[in-house]
Amino acid sequence: MSQANLLNGLYIDGQWRAGSELLPVINPSTEEPLALVAGGDRHSVEQAVTAAQAGLAHWAAASGAERGAVLRRIAAGVAEHRERLMHLQSSNNGKPQFEAAIDVDDVIATFEYYAGLAEGLDAAQDRDVPLPSDDFSARVRREPCGVVGLIVPWNFPMVTTAWKLAPALAAGCSVVLKPSEVTPLPELELAAIIAQSGLPKGVFNLVCGTGLAVGAPLAADPRVAKISFTGSNAVGVQVMQRAAETVKGVSLELGGKSSLLVLADADLELAVELACGGGFFNAGQMCSATSRVLVADELADEFLLRLKARAEAIRVADPFDPDVEMGALVNQAQYQRVLGHIERGLSVGAKLVCGGGRPADRERGFFVRPTLFTEVPLDSALWREEIFGPVLCVRSFASEAEAIALANDSEFGLVASVVSADLDNAERVANALQAGLVWINAPQVIFPQTAWGGYKQSSIGRELGPWGLQAFQEIKHVVRAR
Ligand code: NAD
Repeated sequence: MSQANLLNGLYIDGQWRAGSELLPVINPSTEEPLALVAGGDRHSVEQAVTAAQAGLAHWAAASGAERGAVLRRIAAGVAEHRERLMHLQSSNNGKPQFEAAIDVDDVIATFEYYAGLAEGLDAAQDRDVPLPSDDFSARVRREPCGVVGLIVPWNFPMVTTAWKLAPALAAGCSVVLKPSEVTPLPELELAAIIAQSGLPKGVFNLVCGTGLAVGAPLAADPRVAKISFTGSNAVGVQVMQRAAETVKGVSLELGGKSSLLVLADADLELAVELACGGGFFNAGQMCSATSRVLVADELADEFLLRLKARAEAIRVADPFDPDVEMGALVNQAQYQRVLGHIERGLSVGAKLVCGGGRPADRERGFFVRPTLFTEVPLDSALWREEIFGPVLCVRSFASEAEAIALANDSEFGLVASVVSADLDNAERVANALQAGLVWINAPQVIFPQTAWGGYKQSSIGRELGPWGLQAFQEIKHVVRAR
């Protein structure tokens, strides 16, 4: 490893610093090292929270217009460095360049959207509250909730961060961000852009590091008012437990086991395309993966034939290959986890239709072929647990009621998709699904204006839209005798 690949993993109080914990970062498509990041520990977290506390007063007092201007500069900085950020997304995460472009554009759109909401804050501040008494008057204020800790995973680097960071800054909070130790490179680049945005020092701080060295002390620090976490349920529970000790607010975005419902009148080509998008985009490493595909009995045979043909034709390749359709899984651990799920599925009698292992033409890299199963037992891990890889379970249903019951029979409730030519029908089915976001005849398009989050064990709270901003605000009423 050359000196050039040794990166400072701390940005605290407006200064780049090296931490003492060296984090190896690899390219999952080649298994080659990309960089060593000098990340932090609990002392770095203490310093970052101290800096964030110092930065808070000034930023909380800034007008919405001032905050909006900074957010617009961050969006412009991301747009200016779009190619470089796309490169880092692909080389560090393994996702194809066309997916990396969607990610970077999402980051730009999110910062611009929250710039607009920040700019609207001034006019909405101190609104009169009608009271049933002439003896009193009241006004309502929305104020930043304080220093916030943002902890994010590796599957959509920068995007998950933007969904938290943009509203937190718009609200007037100061921030300590902990990226995933697996994919810190896009966030380090984003931090460099933020450092040039005119944001006062101490308002944004970044501490790279492992969950135990950095995430856990951040969740426990009594000076942190709120933790916004995206990741696995197991860690989400730990974060919530730590946060409970000092009664911190938590927003959690956790796992999913979502369904795509192909109703009897669906366009089969569209259904196949949406099933592939919902299962194989980001190599299936999506909390929103529609990994259960439920198809009406009368379409099931033809649908499965077409889906198999399409899945087998997907070009699994290096993310910079111009014809790539699906990239690598993020690392060895994730690769083993997904293969383990496939093996366990086979051991309980699920029928493998295609895929099931690495592509024959790829010698290195954590690649897994698009994989389809049928006859998956309803009590198996394959059916019930989040796999976070390119693995779909296909099952037929006899009635819409059965399809809805199958989709809702999960401890999760993040998203769902419905494919149907009858829009009234599709809307009715959408209303019956326990999910925070339902797409009808549409790919998994996400707008900053629509909320992100789900039912049951998928989430606590919502990101994006005005709900994402409110998650970082306190409400204060001032009541006065006339
Ligand atoms: P993870 O839970 O292992 O890690 C997430 C983050 O938490 C990382 O930054 C990690 O370092 C940190 N962390 C680990 N242990 C910690 C601890 N004890 N205290 C505090 N922080 C700790 O998740 P992952 O493997 O990085 O990501 C995959 C998971 O994320 C999947 O389960 C997926 O469903 C979920 N996810 C959910 C959404 C959503 O919006 N609902 C989006 C993306 C990913």
